[in-house]
Amino acid sequence: MQFVIIGAGPAGMQAATHAARLGIDVVLIEAEVLGGSANLRDCIPSKTMIATGGALSSVGRMGGMGLAKAHAEVDLGALAERVRDIENRLEAANTELLTRQGVELVRGAGRLAGPHQVVADTLEGERRFEADAVLVATGSRPRVPAWVEPDGDRVLTTRDAYPPKALPEHLVVVGSGVTGVEFVHMFRSLGSEVTLVVSRQHVLPNKDAEVAAALEETFAQRGVHLLKGARAEAVVRTDDGVQVSCNDGRAVEASHALLAVGAVPNTASLGLEQAGVVVDAGGTIPINHHCQTNVPHVYAAGDISGKLPLASVASMQGRKIAEHIAFGHTVAHRHLTYDRAPSAIFTEPEIADVGLAEVEAFAEGRKIRVTKVPFASTAKALIENDPRGFVKIISDPATGVVLGGSIVGESAAELISVVALAVTAELRVADIAESMFVHPTLAEALAEAAE
Ligand SMILES: Cc1cc2nc3c(=O)[nH]c(=O)nc-3n(C[C@H](O)[C@H](O)[C@H](O)COP(=O)(O)OP(=O)(O)OC[C@H]3O[C@@H](n4cnc5c(N)ncnc54)[C@H](O)[C@@H]3O)c2cc1C
Repeated sequence: MQFVIIGAGPAGMQAATHAARLGIDVVLIEAEVLGGSANLRDCIPSKTMIATGGALSSVGRMGGMGLAKAHAEVDLGALAERVRDIENRLEAANTELLTRQGVELVRGAGRLAGPHQVVADTLEGERRFEADAVLVATGSRPRVPAWVEPDGDRVLTTRDAYPPKALPEHLVVVGSGVTGVEFVHMFRSLGSEVTLVVSRQHVLPNKDAEVAAALEETFAQRGVHLLKGARAEAVVRTDDGVQVSCNDGRAVEASHALLAVGAVPNTASLGLEQAGVVVDAGGTIPINHHCQTNVPHVYAAGDISGKLPLASVASMQGRKIAEHIAFGHTVAHRHLTYDRAPSAIFTEPEIADVGLAEVEAFAEGRKIRVTKVPFASTAKALIENDPRGFVKIISDPATGVVLGGSIVGESAAELISVVALAVTAELRVADIAESMFVHPTLAEALAEAAE
């Protein structure tokens, strides 16, 4: 059995390592970096910069920690080096893992030449593979609307923002979804003036209204300008910066503009037609619950599969694909349930959620029990001088089974794992309430919300 994977992002990496663990011969073709865009351009560099901004803001809060004076400033050169260093370390760890597991790594651009034929164009020439199973996991790239032309200098996509060459004096972020608000937070914490163009009346249009309101409140406190109900329709270079014009006649002059308006899947030039694989109008590849395309031995995963565009989801798809190839339907094979995937927004405050949201339950007319506990009621939040935010758990009033939850505040992305586990394992609120949590920790708010 030969399994050929195109793309070594979270989906391809996880499929490769898990399949190799299960005894399958794996060939992994990667055009750039092991770990994919997630490591090189998206998750990891953005979170590295956000961590530095977070450290800087916490210095600003040190006055309340019993310290007389605290001061720090950003060293862009050192930050750029740190971003590259983390990427290199992750690349080295991934190379070591694949080598240890006996995965054949091919550096080059992969494409299908037929249903079972995969070609890799490498520096040494073309290599051909006969595959029993194929995974296409080539990811996505930033969407660029027709009315703007990024130049990588003043008009940026999310991928031009790091490693940082200069800190924008005034940055206009276009797009107020998860990526947009993370970039607002990142550059504001590093010291830039930031304006966010919000096409609707609120940021994060797909999130719980209470959560979006909490974020807007801190943005306002931190001096972020919100241009609400405005759709950007032009970005032009001026003598010393940019001008972003909106459809309601408003315009903002700034030093830089950054576009965070979605992604397009990398499905062109992959030979999908030759293999008979269907691609939909938006460029994503439709898949079934085993991540199979319309050609059963050709799988698709990650951002190109049009499911939740998260590294964690891509990895889990990769894992499930390896199991499906190894075992087919012969073992109890649990499908991936996308609506149980936790997600986080690395802003200040941090935001995380999982499972059923109040708004969805309301739309479905479903009865739910909602318990909410502010972090201010925990000793740990007071000790850490950051009592902002809350924990919310949503459960079934009849059975007590945990259906979802959201957390706003310090370490929300870490804490949501407890709720995610409860949702995936269909635990009851009582199971959380009866677990012992370390004292003093923020997690105690979860135990209290589960009462
Ligand atoms: C700014 C930003 C921040 C994000 N932060 C987070 C976060 O904090 N947490 C989270 O869960 N998600 C985050 N995401 C989303 C996450 O990055 C993606 O969902 C994830 O990277 C998708 O993984 P993937 O496996 O589809 O492929 P990718 O990570 O996109 O990797 C695809 C790989 O395929 C390779 N490739 C492409 N074409 C070929 C070819 N023909 N031959 C060989 N190789 C090829 C590419 O070089 C690349 O290495 C973020 C996204 C953005 C834009």
